[in-house]
Amino acid sequence: MRQKVVAGNWKMNTTLKEGEELIKALVSVDAKGAEVIIAPPFTHLDRVGSHMEKTDFALAAQNLSEDSFGAHTGEIAGEMLKDMGCRYVIIGHSECRGRGETDEVIQKKITRAMEVGLTPIICFGEDEEVYNSGKRMDFLKNQVHSALESVKEEEFLLAYEPIWAIGTGKTASAEDANEVIAEIRNELPEDRREDVRILYGGSVKADNVAGFLKAGEIDGVLVGGASLKADSFKGIIDEVSHV
Ligand code: PEP
Repeated sequence: MRQKVVAGNWKMNTTLKEGEELIKALVSVDAKGAEVIIAPPFTHLDRVGSHMEKTDFALAAQNLSEDSFGAHTGEIAGEMLKDMGCRYVIIGHSECRGRGETDEVIQKKITRAMEVGLTPIICFGEDEEVYNSGKRMDFLKNQVHSALESVKEEEFLLAYEPIWAIGTGKTASAEDANEVIAEIRNELPEDRREDVRILYGGSVKADNVAGFLKAGEIDGVLVGGASLKADSFKGIIDEVSHV
């Protein structure tokens, strides 16, 4: 049985004070066996992580460098994130791909994450044009196969995030997301198929999350906007833990 996941991606939001207030309000929640993952901005990892120490919450980074230590001004190495207590790292988010992150860079980042013992949460998803083109599944399968090229036995999560649903208030229907995720699961090596957790992300809120979790193939959610308010994120965690 795969453990359910509720992951909150704070993106480039919150002052440190706001981030600390938010995590303090969240950690008391009883997630009833669902794994809660929090991805604050890099600058907040240490302080936000310190409030999560005696909890089952897991800390994630939103990105990492494709390189290790060295002359890479402005970048953050996987080793540094591991030092901060991160267990997970989001890789290939559409907002990073949109800034020019290629499939090749994503592969390197996944390799780096695994080298330092971080579990990647690998995002994939199509834009509206691909969605309407009739070639969506080919596109998504290519993204996933490319990302997993050098992955062997290491743990990873996948997150299906249709770009047209991110931050727009539009969601994929639970049936549609479920079908996509089932097809992607079938693309995984047979011996990994039943273990890998595949999430849905895109305008998830407390009042629509249950439908995704009940659909059968979706193991959890990656949440942006609704993870920034304690009440809405707690509402999501509560719904997921009762499915
Ligand atoms: C995201 O950024 O990964 C995301 C799913 O955002 P939102 O929930 O705001 O659509």
